[in-house]
Amino acid sequence: MKVLLTGGAGYIGSHTAVELLRAGHDVVIIDNLSNANESVIENIQKIVQRPVNFYHGDLLNPADLDRVFADHKIDAVVHFAGYKAVGESVAKPLMYYQNNLVSTLNLLETTTRYGVKNLIFSSSATVYGIPEKLPVVEESPLSTLSPYGYTKLAIEHILTDVAAADPSWNITMLRYFNPVGADASGLIGESPRGIPNNLFPFIMRVATGELPELGIFGNDYDTPDGTCVRDYIHVTDLAIGHICALEHLGGLRIYNLGTGRGYSVMECVQEFSRACGFGIPYVIKPRRAGDAPAIYADPTRAANELNWHAQRDLADMCRDCWKYQKNKQ
Ligand code: NAD
Ligand code: UDP
Repeated sequence: MKVLLTGGAGYIGSHTAVELLRAGHDVVIIDNLSNANESVIENIQKIVQRPVNFYHGDLLNPADLDRVFADHKIDAVVHFAGYKAVGESVAKPLMYYQNNLVSTLNLLETTTRYGVKNLIFSSSATVYGIPEKLPVVEESPLSTLSPYGYTKLAIEHILTDVAAADPSWNITMLRYFNPVGADASGLIGESPRGIPNNLFPFIMRVATGELPELGIFGNDYDTPDGTCVRDYIHVTDLAIGHICALEHLGGLRIYNLGTGRGYSVMECVQEFSRACGFGIPYVIKPRRAGDAPAIYADPTRAANELNWHAQRDLADMCRDCWKYQKNKQ
């Protein structure tokens, strides 16, 4: 298959590119580098020893998309491109609605024009809001608290309508839980700009000494140790999930991609300390607005229908994060 990855220079996209290339597929990437560096493309090529077709382009500009489809016979698209920071989306909602929604509409318009109707969309566990029952299944009630979350829900609705209107579309929406870790090569990983919002990037900056301590947002939740519980999934397992999804396209499908196991913030701090060999200083801070006390996936549908299982555990995630971080220094 020749697969177009929008936002393919980003964290999850770059790991998916590597796994697709390792599995023998061809990859085309379009990315405006708003949250990625062009060196990622070189590193993907270094890992797989194969060339990658890269377009420095913006999905907000239909001409950029048109160029890609005119140059390549694309079999399927994986749509990663978008903004993803919950807090920033609250501060700048229009920027989020504009980029995430208009990009998707432009993409759908272009793929339709070129007759490419195989699509995988990067959705998120954020569409489950604060779940009442755990683990969450794909039919769990949907709700969300941030403009970012609304863009994911809105795109899920748009894609559902598109699939209903034209049954020749094959659309799979993947609801990712919390991706962490890095490719085992240590050459690509997650390196957000500025002060990180997410737990693991923050822990890594504390481990390198760039930030003095981690703030743990709340230790009085109704969870085993009082800190929030999430379903962390190794980014390589997540990337492989996209290949399984591409191999099982057919109609409209929705899958949770998580491990099914929750870990608390405190467990993550302890596991990371084991991986790097020293303690991570932390302080307990007030709860962060909008945080669910606990959320983890029921990944049974992906196991049954895609034959996909997460293979890597939290220790692997911490080890690979740390390897990437040390490589970068
Ligand atoms: P990322 O920011 O690393 O990657 C997104 C890429 O899209 C970036 O490289 C960015 O430069 C590019 N981009 C943004 N707007 C663009 C545009 N208009 N045109 C072209 N390129 C554009 O993020 P990620 O963590 O790799 O996430 C990928 C997708 O998965 C996103 O849609 C995100 O919402 C979703 N997701 C991520 C997580 C997570 O925790 N990382 C969880 C659930 C869902
Ligand atoms: N978290 C924390 N300190 C930080 C960043 C995150 O305690 O500096 C907690 C956060 O409250 C949540 C968990 O870590 O319970 C995962 O947060 P993240 O932002 O990585 O993912 P999400 O909130 O999207 O699940």
